[in-house]
Parts: sequence; structure tokens; C-alpha cells
Amino acid sequence: MCSGRVDLEFLLRAFSNGLDGVFIGGCRLNECNYITHGNYHALNLVLLCKRIMEHIGLNPERLKVVFMSAGDGILFTEAIDDFVKTVKALGPLGEAEKMNKSELASKLAEVTRLVPYIKIAKQEKLAARLENEDAYEGHFTSAEIDRLFKEVVSYYIDPQKCQACMICLRKCPVEAIAGAKNQIHVIDQGKCIKCETCFDACPSRFGAVKKITGEPVPPPIPEEERVIVRESMKKR
Ligand code: SF4
Ligand code: SF4
Repeated sequence: MCSGRVDLEFLLRAFSNGLDGVFIGGCRLNECNYITHGNYHALNLVLLCKRIMEHIGLNPERLKVVFMSAGDGILFTEAIDDFVKTVKALGPLGEAEKMNKSELASKLAEVTRLVPYIKIAKQEKLAARLENEDAYEGHFTSAEIDRLFKEVVSYYIDPQKCQACMICLRKCPVEAIAGAKNQIHVIDQGKCIKCETCFDACPSRFGAVKKITGEPVPPPIPEEERVIVRESMKKR
């Protein structure tokens, strides 16, 4: 019921499910019932999502947020009418942008997979309170979002340093880390959502998880070379 509950993933999922437009109605800014002022967060998310849409070639007018009170019936109907007219004029999602269905699906899937990374990278701006509408346009810029995707971070486990303690494996939210007791762990780059959890979780005395930006991730160590033979086991 609260616009502050809207997540970037919800917006991208709505488009992935084929919606031609997404409208968010939030309480008026500065009239939030909670100290969290979630409607400012919703505004920032919409501004960010619009730039992401531009980045993948979708028309950002397909997404709109309007702030109103429960008594603003006329404003509500006018805003919805306007939005429906805009979306109808744009036409079906993807078709109007000259993108075929599989291209659209793969672009949306790729950015959706990176939502945790995007939210970490942009957390300060997502928490901002934009009091002035003039600030909306430049809060996130196209160049900034293009750079964000170009400089996407990858996480890699250094096989020389991994002690197979299994901490990262247990904490990874998407089971992207393969490993076992006495086995060097590896990250499945196809599954990794770049949430940084493993980087934070790996004990500093091991420091085995590396952040990699702007260069290819080394290939995973072959399975037959993953067993760690500890000094205590060698003596047996
Ligand atoms: S960054 Fe680490 S914890 Fe997060 S999804 Fe990737 S492998 Fe898992
Ligand atoms: S937390 Fe670090 S040392 Fe432990 S298994 Fe993961 S990468 Fe290896």
C-alpha cells in the first residue's frame, strides 16, 4: 500500500511480464505517515529506472509516478487518463522501440539480474530527498547509468587464498558459490547478482574474494584442482 515498498525489481518485472506502462501513485511528498518518507525513495527509484529504460532502449515515458492524497480524486483520474493516453500513443512495449521479443526479454533480464548491484552502487542517491522538481532531471544522468553498466563489478575467489571455510557459500543469497569442506570455492558468474555479500563475509585474514572491474574474470579453477590438502592431513 506504500509507494516506499516499490522496488526497482518490481518495475522491471512488470515490464518483463509485458506491461506497456507502469503508474505509481504515492502520497504527497512531505505528507508521509512514517518518518521514512518512502515516497521520496519511490521518486528516486522511478528516476533511476527511467534512465535504465533509456539505457536498454525503452521509452521512459512508460513509467510515471504521481503524488496525491486520498482526497485527490480528480487529480487521480486526470493523471491516469493522461498516462493511458501516453502509453496508447507509444504502442506496445518493445514493438514501438523496434525491439523484438527475445531482445527485449534478454535486456530486461540482464538489468534485473543486476538490481542488487545497482542498488548498492546508487544507494546514496536513492536515499536523497529531492525537494525541488528542478533537481529531478539531473539526479541520475544517462552518462552515469551507461558508465554504471560498463564498469559492472564482478566477484572472484582467489584459489590461492580460499581456505574453504564455507562462510561465503552459506551467505550467498542465490547459491552462486560452489564448494565444500576442503574444496576451493568458485563463483558461478552466470548466477551471481553482484550483491557483495561474499566480499564482506570472507574473513579478512583470508581476503580471498576479489572485486574485479573493467577486466575479464579469470576462468574458474578446474574441478580436479579444487581439493585443499592441509599440512595436518599430509602428516597422516
Ligand atoms: S556477489 Fe557473492 S554473495 Fe553475492 S551473489 Fe555473487 S557470489 Fe553470491
Ligand atoms: S569465505 Fe573466503 S575463505 Fe571462506 S570459502 Fe569463501 S572465499 Fe574461501
